[in-house]
Amino acid sequence: MSKFSEHNFKGQKALVRVDFNVPLNAEYVITDDNRMRATIPTIKKILADGGSVILMSHFGRPKDGPTEKYSLKHLVFHLVKLLDGATVKFADDCIGASASELSASLQPGEVLLLENLRFYKEEEKGDVAFAEKLSKLGDLYVNDAFGTAHRAHASTAVIAQFFPGDKKMFGLVMEGEVASAEKVMHQSEKPFTAIIGGAKVSDKILIIENLLERATDIIIGGGMAYTFMKAEGGKIGNSLCENDRIDTALEILKKAEAKGVNIHLPSDSIIADAFAATAHTADAPSFNIPDGWMGLDIGPNAAEQFSNVIKQSKTILWNGPMGVFEMEKFQHGTKAIAIAVAAATKNGAFSLVGGGDSVAAVNQFGFTDQVSYVSTGGGAMLEYFEGKSLPGIDAINK
Ligand code: AMP
Repeated sequence: MSKFSEHNFKGQKALVRVDFNVPLNAEYVITDDNRMRATIPTIKKILADGGSVILMSHFGRPKDGPTEKYSLKHLVFHLVKLLDGATVKFADDCIGASASELSASLQPGEVLLLENLRFYKEEEKGDVAFAEKLSKLGDLYVNDAFGTAHRAHASTAVIAQFFPGDKKMFGLVMEGEVASAEKVMHQSEKPFTAIIGGAKVSDKILIIENLLERATDIIIGGGMAYTFMKAEGGKIGNSLCENDRIDTALEILKKAEAKGVNIHLPSDSIIADAFAATAHTADAPSFNIPDGWMGLDIGPNAAEQFSNVIKQSKTILWNGPMGVFEMEKFQHGTKAIAIAVAAATKNGAFSLVGGGDSVAAVNQFGFTDQVSYVSTGGGAMLEYFEGKSLPGIDAINK
């Protein structure tokens, strides 16, 4: 049983940091409510115990204080629905007299949503006095926002110092994220395959270097594979390439060899004569792409080779797509990887998918329920697997 599940919130006011940073359309209608849905079990558990909940979140990137567009009031109606009609009050300022009064009069079973924390610059600055003001609103602090765990902001980390050890804890979302990330990072059963894709090598260097200490196999796909191809003397046509990272790619390959980690690069690619959904396409060896053409997906041979490695794995970490999966012609590689990860998971492997675009791909292809865990925190997850400590996690564990 977890600290959160064991705690009885009866009669207590829980100050819960959530990630309600959902997309809205021009009519203020929520177009993807996954982040809100994710944290509903945490809120419901507190309410069911007979406690009350004070929710705080950031929302968008307001530049200069309160802005209609970034008001969390637009979420109240939908939140009531997700909470099966529970009473949800709204404080139009996250600190100050009205927030204090509304929280003081909050009854068991009721929810108070505070206005956007980022209407105050103090939030992102990690201002201690601002964090202390927020802390006064609740009896205990629950952090359920994994997506901002890598930020040392007032509400995600600094606030924790105002609560004793038994009055600060992770919510269910954070507990799940932390447990699955730790499982991959520290208790991985071998073979451990990391699948790293996406556009840029520069974004993924630190994660690859850290994984060289832990994984048995690293599959490199997506646009970043071509910098490696060029580093090895390949001809990559117009494929994505970071020329200033060629030495880094060579170093990674050298380190992997010294450590006995297998690096798998795509032997073939789906190439295109333009970066467009309507481009002409062909299959070509990844180290010999004709001038005027670019690799936009791994080819069928690479997909099969990668799938074989994945299917023999006991631990899988997947960050980043294998190609430009947003276009139909270049999604087969990413889809094949999703199928292989699902098959390995069915065979008993633990699979963690994280990072915005791989999560989007797994959702798009309908494999969300066939992997062990889908992480909600792109940046936070990346930093965790780069080996950095996350302020939002440390603040609770301290
Ligand atoms: P990242 O955010 O670094 O994980 O990159 C994800 C993006 O990389 C997606 O939008 C993909 O379309 C893009 N991508 C993947 N493979 C390629 C490729 N071969 N060439 C160009 N872009 C790619």
